[in-house]
Amino acid sequence: MTYTIKTTQNEWEIVCGLEIHCQIISKSKIFSAASTEFGDDANENVSFIDAGMPGMLPVLNKECVRQAVKTGLGLNAQINKYSVFSRKNYFYADQPNGYQITQYEYPIVGKGSVKIELADGTSKDIGITRIHIEQDAAKSIHDLNPKKSYIDFNRAGVGLMEIVTEPDFRSPEEAGAFLKKLRSIVRYLGTCDGNMDEGSMRCDASVSVRIKGEQKMRERAEIKNVNSVKFAMQAIENEAKRQVEIYESGGTVQQQTCRFDQTTGQTKFMRLKEYADDYRYFPEPDLPPLILTDEYIEGIKAEMVELPDAKKERFIKEFGLSSYDADLLTDSIETADFFEKAAKGHDGKKVANWILGDLFALLNANKLTLETSPVTPSMIGELVDLITNGTISGKIGKDVFALMWQTGQEPAQIVEEKGLKQVTDSSAIEKIVDDVLASNPDNLSAYRAGKTNLFGWFVGQVMKASKGSANPGLVNELLKQKLG
Ligand code: MN
Repeated sequence: MTYTIKTTQNEWEIVCGLEIHCQIISKSKIFSAASTEFGDDANENVSFIDAGMPGMLPVLNKECVRQAVKTGLGLNAQINKYSVFSRKNYFYADQPNGYQITQYEYPIVGKGSVKIELADGTSKDIGITRIHIEQDAAKSIHDLNPKKSYIDFNRAGVGLMEIVTEPDFRSPEEAGAFLKKLRSIVRYLGTCDGNMDEGSMRCDASVSVRIKGEQKMRERAEIKNVNSVKFAMQAIENEAKRQVEIYESGGTVQQQTCRFDQTTGQTKFMRLKEYADDYRYFPEPDLPPLILTDEYIEGIKAEMVELPDAKKERFIKEFGLSSYDADLLTDSIETADFFEKAAKGHDGKKVANWILGDLFALLNANKLTLETSPVTPSMIGELVDLITNGTISGKIGKDVFALMWQTGQEPAQIVEEKGLKQVTDSSAIEKIVDDVLASNPDNLSAYRAGKTNLFGWFVGQVMKASKGSANPGLVNELLKQKLG
């Protein structure tokens, strides 16, 4: 789907790339043994290294390296066996060393690609430029005191993966789809919890515009630290429109850094890029280059879980799902596991319908998750079997499902106790048919006189008299015989 901003003079397209900082899941920080626990009291988890005390030496946490390699493999990327830590020098109170340890010329992960699915059914590959690992800064708190800023060092030194994409996004939708896909992948991998609202996944977007057909890129604005997928899409769209307006009124866009204002949905100018860019990078003297072996990388490859794309393909083949349903079911590993448990040995397509329809509707309405759902995977599998083998009708199935939800009882038990079994005994149905015909002589003679569209009405009466339990096929057959 092409997305353009049309004006009376021109048709503009967006050129956008993303940089995403993902907090690495690890028990301790990337260069110290302090805990990474989120939500502890301020400044509870701070080592001398995190506080920038002189003379302290960083020690690289192996787990953070493993997690970054895993993420690189999950993004189909080149793993660099040689990478180097660098100092990025800048002064800010949340970074008492006066520098951040990061990677610059030699990142741990190189080029990769991620497939995104779009609403019109098409897909697109987004290029990954690199992933480097670095330490997070402390958290500045400006809104507790009108005259002071506070700093919480619990976050200082937490391991980050900075994932950088190519400027491949041509619409806010593509950027949104990528962020969702990336979040799904890191959650599958267990390398980042992906919670944008808690700041464990933070997105910067570089946005420029150009007239359709132009090859060169124009000046861009970088929007910092957007904390939801929706806001990222909004920020890209509004920044692009702002730039188009400037160009169309004869102005020029300067390379700059902005922030996103959640209340107005607009981007706000922070600083011109040319003043902020000189970080005087140099190799970190306190850490040797990071060397990985083929065996090490192969070992991590061997432990990789099945990722959303592969799982989706398998679900389509194994269970005959539509691409759309398979997408929804593989979005989170919890949903995929729930579905697979429910579908094993049953009709997968029908199982998918129950989960995506009735179950998700009830979970959402009651603010529950699959983990807290009173309906278990095996209950859904059994319910599908009861319908497929004719024990109950699909319509009764809905009632049974509602009772499963309310009581947590097995479907077979509900059917038994409530007497919901479908009547397939033709003599029992025949008796009901006879009763219905005998008590409606007017309609019977009307039918025989040629008003054959009353057939459906008779079917309805028989179903009603059987309280929905009569097998509809048999009802049709018997009525045809008796009326004919
Ligand atoms: Mn960074």
